[in-house]
Amino acid sequence: MEMQFKPLVEKEEGQPIIIAGPCSAETEEQVLETAHALKNQNVDFYRAGIWKPRTRPNSFEGVGKTGLPWLKKVKEETGLKVTTEVAKTEHVYECLKYGVDLLWIGARTTVSPFAVQEIADALEGMDVPVLIKNPINPDLNLWIGAIERIYNAGIHRVGVIHRGFSLAGKSKYRNEPLWQIPIELKRRFPDLTIICDNSHICGRRDTLADVAQKSFDLSFHGLMTETHPRPDEAWSDAKQQITPDVFKDLIDNLIIKRENLEGEDLESIVELRVKIDIIDNELLELLGNRMKVAEAIGLYKQAKNISILQPVRWNEILEKAISKGADKGLSEEFTTQFLKAIHQESINHQMEITKTA
Ligand code: PEP
Ligand code: MN
Repeated sequence: MEMQFKPLVEKEEGQPIIIAGPCSAETEEQVLETAHALKNQNVDFYRAGIWKPRTRPNSFEGVGKTGLPWLKKVKEETGLKVTTEVAKTEHVYECLKYGVDLLWIGARTTVSPFAVQEIADALEGMDVPVLIKNPINPDLNLWIGAIERIYNAGIHRVGVIHRGFSLAGKSKYRNEPLWQIPIELKRRFPDLTIICDNSHICGRRDTLADVAQKSFDLSFHGLMTETHPRPDEAWSDAKQQITPDVFKDLIDNLIIKRENLEGEDLESIVELRVKIDIIDNELLELLGNRMKVAEAIGLYKQAKNISILQPVRWNEILEKAISKGADKGLSEEFTTQFLKAIHQESINHQMEITKTA
């Protein structure tokens, strides 16, 4: 089935969709104060979590539907459109009752096809745009599956939010961006609106601007950033929230790049792209040759009863490559991932050839 997405809102070509507001609606005063501080900025939707899926019980789980009249008041007093997270049928109905303009599905919900289907069923026959956050694990198909479920319910104003992926190990990000995943989604569905949630990627304030800029460099269509009048006092995600004033600076300093090359002197970029294509071809040729050698080694190992995986040899290869890669300006992370993928493919080839030999 070919999906044909419609824009979430009508925007001038090249103008980003901006979503801002607190992680959670805490009190009516806090919700209104934040909204008034944002109303003269170019904000398309005011966000505030009403139901908060928290990792551990006994954390603040949101004010619940008590907060919906506050969002209605935001609309009346500031003219801002509003959005919140929904995770089940009742949330969808309550939001539509209170005139919430845009719904989003959270990362912990996207992982569960039953939960997404429940939301899709509740949306059947409704006309409201929906944004789907990536699942917390880096599984593109799970993300696409959620998009399909909502689309199949007749909601065609569908978009996605990239909020990074939860991975084991230390990182400067709260959720690793793994940009190649949203890039692949964009390649598969060029007309799907894609928004960067820099707050949940970063988990801290000092990197928010860089991540926002990076997403714009990759032609994302918009930004969702958590803003709170007194971030340190926020009831959830205090470390990553910024004041509306800081948010204004962040937006003012963003450089919006064009995806469209029309009207450009294309000569030099075409030339550079040809060079890239040639290099990519050479890389693939080399990788193909490398697999042939790996297969020959596989047959040798089989004849001599040597196991396919040789951890000492593999560590040696990896260490050498990381150091050589560093000389060439390649990050350790990249070289490791690249080599791991090649190594895995070699093992697969060796398994395959020894099975049939
Ligand atoms: C949120 O937007 O506050 C939130 C809970 O985000 P996520 O689903 O991305 O964790
Ligand atoms: Mn949050």
